[in-house]
Amino acid sequence: MINFDYARASDVADAVRRIAADPAAKFIAGGTNLIDLMKENVERPSRLIDISHLPLKAVEENAAGGLRIGALVPNSDLAYHPLIAARYPLLGSAILAGASAQLRNMASTGGNLLQRTRCYYFYDTATPCNKREPGSGCSAREGLNRMHAILGTSESCIATHPSDMCVALAALEAKVHVAGPGGERTIAFADFHRLPENEPQRDTTLRADEMVIAVELPPRGFAANYSYLKIRDRLSYAFALVSVAAALELDGGRIAAARLVLGGVAHKPWRDLDAEAALQGESANGASFSRAAEIVLRNAKGFAHNAFKIDLARRAIVRALTQAAQATPQSQSDKTIR
Ligand SMILES: Cc1cc2nc3c(=O)[nH]c(=O)nc-3n(C[C@H](O)[C@H](O)[C@H](O)COP(=O)(O)OP(=O)(O)OC[C@H]3O[C@@H](n4cnc5c(N)ncnc54)[C@H](O)[C@@H]3O)c2cc1C
Ligand code: SF4
Repeated sequence: MINFDYARASDVADAVRRIAADPAAKFIAGGTNLIDLMKENVERPSRLIDISHLPLKAVEENAAGGLRIGALVPNSDLAYHPLIAARYPLLGSAILAGASAQLRNMASTGGNLLQRTRCYYFYDTATPCNKREPGSGCSAREGLNRMHAILGTSESCIATHPSDMCVALAALEAKVHVAGPGGERTIAFADFHRLPENEPQRDTTLRADEMVIAVELPPRGFAANYSYLKIRDRLSYAFALVSVAAALELDGGRIAAARLVLGGVAHKPWRDLDAEAALQGESANGASFSRAAEIVLRNAKGFAHNAFKIDLARRAIVRALTQAAQATPQSQSDKTIR
């Protein structure tokens, strides 16, 4: 492991000042991803700017009727927060599908957004990887690519974004509030994570001198008809092969509004507005759910070891939408474990 400096930021302005002064510095929040990457020599920051004690740990109602979630709210606190449980259970369900209880206690809201891919080659410094070392090549395209993307890939990179929480945030149309040297700005969740294109080293549109300070949820929470379905190799403590955040507003048996976002299939949470539009006004039944799945997967492309994900995603979409329509969301067996 390399030597690095350590500093505690005294407030958000100080954190931003420190990161702007040193482009090789990194913020540390819960440390559950960054420290692993430093131990593997993948991340080599000159300095860690500790933001973990800053006063960004509140979940508050805002004037618009939504919620503002501080960037340092731990994942467990967020999942079990009474306002999340009552109004945004899709988000709580997605968070509880991720990692382990211990990790969720440490992991922060901001850190979850910024966690890096779990592509094996990204972690293995003995192999080429365009995300870790731009221009070196992509080992996964011709290598072990079972966990990799089927949508939105590029010649440069076929990695997936590993977060469960972000799939629900995309479905809920969250906004990300960030602070930089020039002040604060807001990024729509759909624009926060990027597709790899020819710059896979850039996971997000956050600038190097900016910090995530909060995530905002709009009032609409889809609390009655939702499901977060996560398919993985073992029931706990594994990243998604495919996950689906499905949320519906029903008017009798008809779909008044739909949200449909996939995880584990692309470099960012994969939302398809055409599929959502195709569901609107239709009967909430298997035929319309299957049509939506066909639309989402119309441009899906598998590689040597992950083509199975296309059919898996198709069936997962239908199942998640069915669970949402029937108000029988995927249960979380570990809901009582903190
Ligand atoms: C064994 C294991 C299993 C896991 N399984 C899952 C899973 O199934 N599903 C899932 O979703 N996640 C999973 N995770 C990932 C976990 O959710 C993330 O590690 C965690 O959310 C990261 O949050 P953190 O606060 O610890 O981030 P840190 O490790 O502190 O930081 C991560 C990155 O975010 C940056 N950062 C942190 N906060 C901010 C901020 N406010 N503004 C700007 N940049 C910031 C850091 O500089 C760093 O680059 C797993 C992790 C492990 C170790
Ligand atoms: S898929 Fe992306 S992260 Fe994985 S080896 Fe290729 S470039 Fe690196």
